Amino acid sequence: NKLNVALIFGGKSGEHEVSLASSASIYTHIDKSKYNIFTIGITKDGRWMYYEGNEENIRNGEWVNLANKNVEINLVPVGNKEVGIVFEDGRLEKIDVLFPVLHGPYGEDGTIQGLFEISQIPYVGCGVLSSSVGMDKLICKKVFTQIGLPQVDYTDTHKSVFNKYTQEELNKIEEKLNYPIFVKPANLGSSVGISKANNREELLSGINEALKFDARIVLEQGIDAREIEVAVLGNNEVKASIAGEIKPAKDFYDYEDKYINGSSTYDIPANINEIDMENIRKMAIEAFKSIDGKGLSRVDFFIDKNSGEIFINEINTLPGFTNISMYPKMWEATGLSYSSLIDSLIQLALDTKK
Ligand code: ATP
Ligand code: MG
Ligand code: MG
Ligand code: MG
Repeated sequence: NKLNVALIFGGKSGEHEVSLASSASIYTHIDKSKYNIFTIGITKDGRWMYYEGNEENIRNGEWVNLANKNVEINLVPVGNKEVGIVFEDGRLEKIDVLFPVLHGPYGEDGTIQGLFEISQIPYVGCGVLSSSVGMDKLICKKVFTQIGLPQVDYTDTHKSVFNKYTQEELNKIEEKLNYPIFVKPANLGSSVGISKANNREELLSGINEALKFDARIVLEQGIDAREIEVAVLGNNEVKASIAGEIKPAKDFYDYEDKYINGSSTYDIPANINEIDMENIRKMAIEAFKSIDGKGLSRVDFFIDKNSGEIFINEINTLPGFTNISMYPKMWEATGLSYSSLIDSLIQLALDTKK
């Protein structure tokens, strides 16, 4: 008996396009002899639509025009109505597993996971708490500090304060950190809204740019770093892949580099010594457990090129899943193929309901 799996893609966040690429890739690799796939797209303005799949049209965004607007997606149990997908002829398809392939706010931040909890259908990946903590760079830093994971120096500002006391806030930031300073919206990913400021002028413009995406802003000490990533998989028994290294083509690993040019290169395994490798893998699992992670995450680290120090950068609870994404590649290098990885994620989702 095949399981009914709903792939949910798109979404309202700045990472909509990344989600389309991730979903198209998962749609291609998922073992269709094991699962019936139901593809549900969320438009940029937040409307949910049923779209009878085709990988290419998911990737290029054409699905919006081809979606069947008469199919009802019913995830909230109301009265005696069953949850599932209701087709035009009244046929109801129950969903066994929800698979959100969404990045950023409304997909990776616990909001949709809350809806899934209410639907009572098992879902792939982190729950409400781990998703929201993982997505929020400020809160997450506090949790990591609490368990003793090393991080670069940072501070924060808020739209309401910054707009009122701009000069004072800039002074405060410059007192705490030295240039270059990384400016980041607290809740986002794919480097959207992130910039590297080399002086006060760039700091101001960087903060104004980041404020387009979030009212809470993180300012971080910029370091000259190697970038190491680890893929994590599991619920209670958590495994870490071998670590990989990203070698950005430009100044830093920005949106274009990640998804448009794909001009960065990578090493899997990362060419680091055994002690660093084991230490980083161990910290990745600790980070995942500290936020009560479930299913999967990709944990990103820096190694300071000057001092050799290791810092945790962040955790991504729904990491990129495109053909060129690190998460599936690191598992492949650790001995888990793309389609077996998808099987594991679905099994882990079912296990949470046991
Ligand atoms: P993701 O797509 O992995 O979710 P993100 O949007 O959450 O990314 P970060 O990983 O925090 O963003 O930062 C994006 C990139 O910016 C990093 O991969 C790195 O190249 C650079 N970067 C971020 N913070 C720093 C720092 N403190 N020092 C040096 N480089 C940094
Ligand atoms: Mg991130
Ligand atoms: Mg991310
Ligand atoms: Mg990152």
